[in-house]
Amino acid sequence: MNDCIFCKIIEGVIPVKKKIFEDDMVFAFEDINPQAPVHILIIPKKHISGLDSVKREDIEILGHIQIVAAKIAEDMNLKEGYRLLTNNGIDAGQTVAHLHYHLLGGRTFAWPPG
Ligand code: 5GP
Ligand code: ZN
Repeated sequence: MNDCIFCKIIEGVIPVKKKIFEDDMVFAFEDINPQAPVHILIIPKKHISGLDSVKREDIEILGHIQIVAAKIAEDMNLKEGYRLLTNNGIDAGQTVAHLHYHLLGGRTFAWPPG
């Protein structure tokens, strides 16, 4: 039994406050603890534990996530900009071991990040 929290969200076992987008490859939903006015998580339906686990065969998923992110940003009118990122591993603060990309917008973001 896979007890991955994001797999359970994809399966509908754990509800999300707001689903943003879904197709055969990806699922996007609002982060439960938003760090910006817009904070959406975009995840592959395939369980991949993080960026360090991706394989050459995942190239379509990885490309598709970025196309979906840009489309969501456009739909949400993030004309002033947005940030798309994935945290990989302990040093980066990854807390969920299912690959996910944070789409953040609606405010300015510092660089370098903390
Ligand atoms: P990470 O720290 O691994 O890069 O990001 C994990 C993200 O998942 C965090 O921003 C956290 O708020 C979010 N998250 C964790 N559990 C849930 C949940 O059950 N539902 C939603 N919508 N977001 C979650
Ligand atoms: Zn998973």
